[in-house]
Amino acid sequence: MPAASRFSGSIILVAAALAAAMAAPGFLAMRRQDQIMPGPGVSRQGLLSEFFQGLAGTAGDTPVYFLEGAESGGTMLVMGGTHGDETAGVLAAVVLIEQARVQRGRLIVIPRANASGFTHNVPQEGHPQRIAIRTGRGTRFFTYGARVTNPVHQWPDPQVYTLRGSGQVLSGIETRNLNRAYPGRPDGNLTERIAHAVTSLIRSERVDLAIDLHEASPEYPVVNTIVAHERATELAALVNINLQAEGIAIGLESSPVNLHGLSHREWGDATQTLAVLMETTGPAQGRLRGRTSAGLVTGGLDRFYVRASERNKLPVPFPETGWPLESRVGRHLSGIAAFAATLADLWPEKAVQLVGVPDYATVIHQGLGTFLR
Ligand SMILES: [Zn+2]
Repeated sequence: MPAASRFSGSIILVAAALAAAMAAPGFLAMRRQDQIMPGPGVSRQGLLSEFFQGLAGTAGDTPVYFLEGAESGGTMLVMGGTHGDETAGVLAAVVLIEQARVQRGRLIVIPRANASGFTHNVPQEGHPQRIAIRTGRGTRFFTYGARVTNPVHQWPDPQVYTLRGSGQVLSGIETRNLNRAYPGRPDGNLTERIAHAVTSLIRSERVDLAIDLHEASPEYPVVNTIVAHERATELAALVNINLQAEGIAIGLESSPVNLHGLSHREWGDATQTLAVLMETTGPAQGRLRGRTSAGLVTGGLDRFYVRASERNKLPVPFPETGWPLESRVGRHLSGIAAFAATLADLWPEKAVQLVGVPDYATVIHQGLGTFLR
């Protein structure tokens, strides 16, 4: 090999090593879990692996927070972070952990259901690695993750993902989607084992009502909606009416019987719980969006979506003020409060009485940072 090409080869190697060294801290930072500061309502913090030992020591294990009331009542589970790029669900769960107190019954909160999904981004989406929220005493940072389990933790994907039991067929990447893995399998892949642990928690803690928090792209038909298992239909319909009365426009959909692997279907079929899922509008998720940044996730403003909305191309309006994180987290929090209140109305023995949870109007008025410790 001539000396000149050896020399240019060395330069390329050195440049590659430099680029890797410069990028490494950013990637490694995503391995660190965000700080959550449990409030006075949290009586115990545990791990999901308590409900399935096969998850212990894996990238799928994740914190679980228990808030117990003095009076006995029902048990509610609220789960954020099924999809790591659906920030409003995570932040609503964090606000519950840091602010809520339970007077009656129990509240169990899992803020990052698929912990592995928070250790990477979806390639080519231009998503930020984290978002910043200003509080009264400084800025808090939260990881913006991915929709699926990190391939470093579960690899390779099959060409086609066939769900055990139902035989439903999906594309291979969905094998890493927690919301296609329920009810889960103890001897399955990491995502199926996370799903199995969540189902085990619902069963062993006798969860009366389980709420899975999501966001979806503005052009997705089931956006700003509650999706309910058939046993939860009456409850969800009353919640829907109460939220509309609060000025929150929200839809109601039945969980399709032939769509498998989803939380609202499989939790309801495999356990006694009333299973529901709530969606908001996630401005950083859709295909029509313009420039993607942390500001789009928090500010929620995108002029391309505003134009699509003006032409009636979206299932729900995309206002000129956008869908800021405040309004999306506020929707989830008001939804959770309405579910708790309606559960108590329908079945007083299953009551879960929550205090200290800010509602939609309060979060918008006072700002999300006000409710983060
Ligand atoms: Zn989702």
